Amino acid sequence: MKYIKKNREPGQFTSWKALANDYWQPSWDNNFQAPEKPIVHDALLKEQGFICCYCGMRITRQASHIEHLKPRSQYPSLALEYTNLIASCQGESEEPPPIPVHCGHEKKYWYEAKLMVSPLEPNCEAFFKYTGAGEIQPTDDPLKQDAAITTIEKLALNIDKLKNMRKLAIDAALDATQGLSYEEIQKLVQGYNELNNTGEYTPFCAAIIYILKNYF
Ligand SMILES: [Zn+2]
Repeated sequence: MKYIKKNREPGQFTSWKALANDYWQPSWDNNFQAPEKPIVHDALLKEQGFICCYCGMRITRQASHIEHLKPRSQYPSLALEYTNLIASCQGESEEPPPIPVHCGHEKKYWYEAKLMVSPLEPNCEAFFKYTGAGEIQPTDDPLKQDAAITTIEKLALNIDKLKNMRKLAIDAALDATQGLSYEEIQKLVQGYNELNNTGEYTPFCAAIIYILKNYF
C-alpha cells in the first residue's frame, strides 16, 4: 500500500456540485456521469500515479473503478466527497470467468476506522512488510498488527495472484540492482518513491521499496 496525497478536487466537479438547488441535487446514483465522472476518475488516477489504491498494480480508467474509502452505505454524505474517493483495480480472479476477488470489490461495504489501514494515512506503509516471495505481511509492531492483519484479509492482499505479481516486480527491481553500490541502491529507492516522467509509479513500488531498504 502506498500513501496517496490527495490534491484539490477538479474544478468542474466543484462547479457541478455547486449547481445543487431545491429541485436538483448531485447524486452518485442518479446523475454522477460524463463529463464529471471521468474527470474525477482521471484526477484520481493521476494523483495515485496510475497504481491501485490498495494492491499497487497498474490501473487505467478502463481497468479500475472509483472507490469510496468510507462506503456509501455507512457514509452517504461522503458519496461525492473528493477526499473519500480513490481509484481501485477491478480485483478480478485469474481464472475465467473473472470475478472480483481482491481490493475495492472484495472490500465492498467494509470499513472500520480502527481496523482499516487507509492509503490516505501518511504512515500507512509502516503497517506492512514484504518478503522476496511477494507476500505481504503485518509489521512486527504490535500496535499496528490488528489493523494490518484485518486489512490484508478484508482486501485479500495476500492471494496467490497478487503474490505472484509482486514477486515478478520485486525480482525485476532486484535484477536492476546488480553491480550497484549501496548509495546507488538508495538512489533507486528514492526513484521508486517518486513519479516517473510520465507521471506513473512503478507497480508494487511499496513492496519494492521495502525489499530494497531491508535486504541491503
Ligand atoms: Zn488492487
